[in-house]
Amino acid sequence: MKKVVIIGSGLGGLSTALRLAKKGYDVTILEKHITPGGRLNVLEKDGFKFDLGPSFMSMTFELDELFNSIGEKNPVELEELDPIYQVFFEGKDKPRKIYKDLKKLEEEFKDVEPELARKADEYLTRAGHFFHDTEDKVVKANFNNKLEYILKLSRVPLKHLPYLWKTMWSEVEKQFKSEEVRIIFSLVAFFLGATPFQTPAIYSLLNYTEMRHNGYWRVKGGMYKLVEEIMKILNRLGVKIEYNTEVVAVNSANGSVTEVVDNKGRKWQADIFVSNSDAASFRGRVLHREKFSDEKLDKKHWTLAPFTIYLGVKGKIDNLMHHNYFLGSNFRGYADTIFTSSINPQKPYYYVNVLSKSEDNVAPEGCENVYILCPVPDLRYKKEWADKDELADNIISDLSARTGFDIKSNIITKTVLSPDDWASTLNLYKGSGLGLAHDINQVGAFRPKNKDEKLNNLYYVGASTTPGTGLPMVIISSKLVTERIEDEYKFIS
Ligand SMILES: Cc1cc2nc3c(=O)[nH]c(=O)nc-3n(C[C@H](O)[C@H](O)[C@H](O)COP(=O)(O)OP(=O)(O)OC[C@H]3O[C@@H](n4cnc5c(N)ncnc54)[C@H](O)[C@@H]3O)c2cc1C
Repeated sequence: MKKVVIIGSGLGGLSTALRLAKKGYDVTILEKHITPGGRLNVLEKDGFKFDLGPSFMSMTFELDELFNSIGEKNPVELEELDPIYQVFFEGKDKPRKIYKDLKKLEEEFKDVEPELARKADEYLTRAGHFFHDTEDKVVKANFNNKLEYILKLSRVPLKHLPYLWKTMWSEVEKQFKSEEVRIIFSLVAFFLGATPFQTPAIYSLLNYTEMRHNGYWRVKGGMYKLVEEIMKILNRLGVKIEYNTEVVAVNSANGSVTEVVDNKGRKWQADIFVSNSDAASFRGRVLHREKFSDEKLDKKHWTLAPFTIYLGVKGKIDNLMHHNYFLGSNFRGYADTIFTSSINPQKPYYYVNVLSKSEDNVAPEGCENVYILCPVPDLRYKKEWADKDELADNIISDLSARTGFDIKSNIITKTVLSPDDWASTLNLYKGSGLGLAHDINQVGAFRPKNKDEKLNNLYYVGASTTPGTGLPMVIISSKLVTERIEDEYKFIS
């Protein structure tokens, strides 16, 4: 039985462990942190339970594919969000609710965007064609080299070509007249960790997955339930997991990894190694490859860094839903400067998730758990976060003013995580929340590959390798890396 060591237990690592263990590989996971899940994690404190990172998922059919592939029923219950979310624009007294139902959406924006249902339908139909024309050919495919990738791209119908050089903003600008609607349709760029002014128009396909194809879903019981259920299956399949175990070195001979060395000096041998640690920074910081040195990685485009606040609040905040966005009045100016600024944003834009709006037993009776996520510059631009309480207070005051609820005086528990915390806990490169960005020159064959260039039994899975970031993408990534390993090992007993 081939032995596999997986470095990291993010959703990418766990999904790979499920697939390989089911196929009969003997799998051990080495995890730096004290719990499994990586960014998909949980914070439990003073009777409150918060999703630590991801709070929703799209393309849930990828979850079904994962569990089907190992002959299991999807063990988590999912609930579709309807409305998907609400957006508070600065200076407006009422938030806008975002619906998948385009008639309802048109009604919501009837004062600013006539014929929204027709325009949105055109936009989503176009994005849908692109999604289906690329999903299997490009997104869910392994490439051995750039030529293979370009050949696969050349099979995508030519009508989609303009998507490649346009930005997402230019697409929405062309389609919608109102600034508010344009902003709504371009918010998905932030889920890719970038702004719509730099994100290629191809990612309007996310509008399609969000607003038509599959929608947004939450896991009943909190997102971490997914990790808990996966762990039960892995346990049944005999997968071993070691926590507090960070891989710090790799020993090799004759072009193959022989063992990895952890932070306590222990050595772990296997036939096959899969790194769920960031595919770019692992090559640089652990394998010491010149091409992936910090100096070179700093020049790449990384996604936004998370600044997160978890508040247990006494009382009920009526104006909030499960998902809420709070935006300022200068979208373009904010987006242009926020990611490269070295100071705290004065008027931050942020996302608020209130799990207690849709779940019982996640907060004490009569209380609310408020998770705030604010995109901020990564550690390349703002190295010091000693002033993090200042930004947290600023956001809490803004949220209090805009919801009309005095949050500050009702805080029972508060935890603040800045990019340096995210970086040190989970090895996120310079605190970048979603890993490498998805510019045209950083996707497909231009993204760090899922098979090592020099060591023939070392593979990669997760957000910074192919196909990209987000929960459904790292599940696809686990499928792609498993296919590669199977191609190369299935006939070797
Ligand atoms: C704040 C935030 C909110 C998000 N919200 C959403 C959302 O709502 N929906 C969505 O779809 N996506 C969301 N994402 C993105 C999503 O969380 C990630 O794309 C996905 O979880 C990445 O999974 P992964 O397996 O690639 O890596 P990770 O989750 O980062 O897991 C990697 C694991 O490897 C471990 N590790 C790293 N280096 C080593 C080493 N050397 N040795 C041993 N272990 C190591 C880490 O500790 C970690 O546990 C969010 C991300 C953040 C940060």
